[in-house]
Amino acid sequence: MNQGLLSVDDALARLLAEAKPVAEVEEVPTLEATNRILARAQRSTMDVPPMDNSAMDGYAVRVADGTKLRVAQKIMAGSVGKPLERGTAARIFTGAPIPPGADAVIMQEQVEVQGSEVVLKKTPKPGEWVRYVGSDVRKGGEILPAGKRLLPQDTGLAASVGIKTLPVHRRVKLGLFFTGDELVMPGEPLAPGRIYNSNRFTLRGLAEVFGCELRDYGIVPDTLEATREVLRRAASECDLIVTSGGVSVGDADYVKPAVEAEGRLLMWRIAMKPGRPLAFGTVKKAFFIGLPGNPVSSFVTFLIFVRPFLLRTQGVLDVEAKTILAKADFDWPEPDQRREFLRVRWNAQGGLDIYPTQDSAVLTSTAWADGLVDNPAAHAIRKGDLVRFMPYSELYK
Ligand code: AMP
Ligand code: MG
Repeated sequence: MNQGLLSVDDALARLLAEAKPVAEVEEVPTLEATNRILARAQRSTMDVPPMDNSAMDGYAVRVADGTKLRVAQKIMAGSVGKPLERGTAARIFTGAPIPPGADAVIMQEQVEVQGSEVVLKKTPKPGEWVRYVGSDVRKGGEILPAGKRLLPQDTGLAASVGIKTLPVHRRVKLGLFFTGDELVMPGEPLAPGRIYNSNRFTLRGLAEVFGCELRDYGIVPDTLEATREVLRRAASECDLIVTSGGVSVGDADYVKPAVEAEGRLLMWRIAMKPGRPLAFGTVKKAFFIGLPGNPVSSFVTFLIFVRPFLLRTQGVLDVEAKTILAKADFDWPEPDQRREFLRVRWNAQGGLDIYPTQDSAVLTSTAWADGLVDNPAAHAIRKGDLVRFMPYSELYK
């Protein structure tokens, strides 16, 4: 039944074999680097913390000096104390440097203040509440690997070692266009036979999620000339062109001949559901991926194929979406002969429910879902089985 169909893994391997990161690297302020892709690994030129310091508000002490101590000094964060004399304690605040001679901090809740002295209600352990120099980051150590999408905490980490700017890959220029004479935009009258161009919204949103510089060429009429014209324009302006519709073998499918005329094209029939047809090629220096028009199919094939290709083009090294083993709270007795990507969502019991209609035209399923179950070909699922779940939260990064 799957004869002549290409497996998802083979198609993905062929796509990724061609993908290469955009070469241009730009230096951006660390303050503005969130969501960009780091082009070179970053090392620290300093220890963090740069000195031993207190993890608590309390008293810095020498453990061997006993439990009754004179408070001889006060050290605030940002200032430096004097060496601790025998038999004394230093009032100390979180982040303040540990004075030479002290070997522990006792929390203020665990002392009794008696005039100018403190009595410790317990003997601290050596090292207690001390953050040691270099315990977070060692000088010379790698703090961020190349090819990582920078999250807020990554830019914070870079800043914590004083890095002011970061080298990131230039944003990928992603061109989108939509084929189909039936398409109209919301706000326009919906004449008989027409439908709204929902894919434009879904795919634009995805382009935004992945931090692309978007070129949206809108709806292209179902003619060879119009399709060729927009392809030429997009190819001169984009790194990657993604289209929806017009890649099946219907009479009005001009994407295939247009790409063939302007560049080179591979047409694949993929053993997956939803989403059988997929087109891959190049037009001038731009890559081209043609997605099916069915709204669920274009959404799923974007996540399964365009996402990793795009990430590679952006310079991301680890492009595989993490899957989670989760419990199916549904039966799926009549699986397809093709690998399926089922729309499911978490329930309150921590299991997965399935959307009752898995038809590739029912966009409601994608909005209702929390992600996709990656179900192997011809694999029946019984309630209670563990299945491979790809949450949107993983697919969107
Ligand atoms: P096609 O791949 O062009 O044969 O289209 C397959 C199905 O998807 C048809 O029912 C189209 O009307 C529908 N479709 C195509 N493009 C879009 C779009 N941009 N938004 C919503 N539905 C679409
Ligand atoms: Mg069409």
